[in-house]
Amino acid sequence: MTDPPDTRRCPECGRPASAKHAPFCCKRCADLDLGRWLDGGYRIPTGEPAPTAAHGEDDGEG
Ligand SMILES: [Zn+2]
Repeated sequence: MTDPPDTRRCPECGRPASAKHAPFCCKRCADLDLGRWLDGGYRIPTGEPAPTAAHGEDDGEG
């Protein structure tokens, strides 16, 4: 037993977590983790085919 069970470590860098930014050690690590979540969770499903540029040649004389 090297580390006490009461000590939590930052999952990002491994440093002792801070009570203010638990379970992270600082805001930077918290933002990093949050950013990863948003990046992986908020993904727009791109299943639609790209609209082909069909320019109908329209002779419109006015
Ligand atoms: Zn950290």
